[in-house]
Amino acid sequence: MRAYMYLYGYRNPGAARELITSLRLPANVCGDCGACAVQCVSGFPVSSRIKDVIRVREVPPEFLV
Ligand code: SF4
Repeated sequence: MRAYMYLYGYRNPGAARELITSLRLPANVCGDCGACAVQCVSGFPVSSRIKDVIRVREVPPEFLV
């Protein structure tokens, strides 16, 4: 969710990518979970936001500012 904030809140895709890369997450993040166990107290759709922001790791860093 911090990476999501970097990307959409701060409009800093480079910081989002750097954070996501540092986490060394599996290739299919959230794809194997039938029912998400994460319950956000503010009601944010955590799984869908993760699936959204994780795409930034596929962007070559030289394309990001
Ligand atoms: S956020 Fe939800 S869908 Fe994603 S890995 Fe965690 S439990 Fe699974």
